[in-house]
Amino acid sequence: MKYAVERFTEELRALNRTVWEAAEPRFEEYRSMAAETAVLKKHGFDVEEGIAGMPTAYRAVYGSGAPVIGLLAEYDALDGLSQEADCLEKRARPEVRCGHGCGHNLLGTAVIAAALDLKEYLDAHPGAGSVIVYGCPAEEGGSGKTLMAGAGVFHELDAALAWHPATINASMGCSMLANCQAHFKFHGTSSHAGNAPEKGRSALDAVELMDVGINFLREHMEMTDRVHYAVTNTGGTAPNVVQAEAEVIQLVRSRTNAGVKELYERVCDIARGAALMTDTTVEITFDKACSNVVPNRVLGGLTYETMVRLGPPEYTDEERDYVKRYHELVGEEAVLNDDGAVPHYDMDERRELVKTHPMADFILPYKMVSMPAMGSSDIGDVSQVAPLVQFETACFTQGAQPHSWLWVTQGLSVYAEKGMLFAGQVMAEVAKRLFADRELLEAAKEELQTRMGGQPYVCPTPEACRKAGVHGV
Ligand SMILES: [Zn+2]
Repeated sequence: MKYAVERFTEELRALNRTVWEAAEPRFEEYRSMAAETAVLKKHGFDVEEGIAGMPTAYRAVYGSGAPVIGLLAEYDALDGLSQEADCLEKRARPEVRCGHGCGHNLLGTAVIAAALDLKEYLDAHPGAGSVIVYGCPAEEGGSGKTLMAGAGVFHELDAALAWHPATINASMGCSMLANCQAHFKFHGTSSHAGNAPEKGRSALDAVELMDVGINFLREHMEMTDRVHYAVTNTGGTAPNVVQAEAEVIQLVRSRTNAGVKELYERVCDIARGAALMTDTTVEITFDKACSNVVPNRVLGGLTYETMVRLGPPEYTDEERDYVKRYHELVGEEAVLNDDGAVPHYDMDERRELVKTHPMADFILPYKMVSMPAMGSSDIGDVSQVAPLVQFETACFTQGAQPHSWLWVTQGLSVYAEKGMLFAGQVMAEVAKRLFADRELLEAAKEELQTRMGGQPYVCPTPEACRKAGVHGV
């Protein structure tokens, strides 16, 4: 047995399968939550379901007193990614629409693995502290943790541990972007486009002009700012009607919450300008936001050391064949150019490692860099309340992209399972070290204070919108 958590393998494998098969979308993860809390209850955790006003959020506690170490579990799937397991082609399962294209089945299950291991540690070390598993719904497009942070759920923590399934093993030494999302609904006047266009005012024109305006804005934004959009209502399919209604969603990203706020105001001004140009009106509805991740060198370094000490999983010939088949499918270029969502590592160095280690059985050196990863995660909100670390382990073959059927199809494989067990053990060992070494924990907290400039966390989603988020609008 390479990792101690492997004593729970049968139970964890069944849990991973249940969550993968249920493949429930954001805010509807009822069966997934029930499966996780059933295991936690069975092992003596005190479980509270439906916290922070969300039916599929939970909190499970073991132990008592300080320090309090939090483990962040996710279990939501992605719409439109239904896929059979262990396939070399895209093939949907007829019974579901969603699929675990981000590996959150593994994510939640590894957290439970760590929790079960820590339960036994706390039994053997009475008074060492407590562990809390947070069941966090809707990481995808709902920012469940932001809503939980806004409700004050994480203020009880001394440190938080998070991981994400990936194609490599690494402790993350970078930030991730803050973001916010809003709906822009334009109202115009319909009319016959041929007979009386002068009587119409096109809401669709306004959507187009808004997007043109944003394209001109791009030149004058920070290099790490991002604005993406999806037109969700074109006002119909008939070109001979002047479209009276049209809608676009804009997702705005920047390095900090303050940067997002400023950029969002500029985007709103462009919407108002588009409405003025087209003689339409615009209704702006704020949807959701999440904070930038505040990295923590103390916890990041400790996690890296722990990963190296435990060592990556070892693989059988059968598992090597499994990985080889997917490498052949995606092609060598895709394998060599996979940045593993940690783009700040030297790609030449990465390519050399990948060539000699097709199983990704290496751990990238730990580096703290100022360049953020260009995605966002709602762990950002937790990272501004308590010192947090996020790391990745290799669960999917290199070259396979997140949010694609390739990640869904590999979600039950032994390769994925080994990465999951490795992640569970890393989290458990990091937590044990923090229970035993209060000075280290204090250093991590001080670092957070410094990085926050002494300012308290402010939830980027206004209170009035937090209820709307619960329904996933
Ligand atoms: Zn994810």
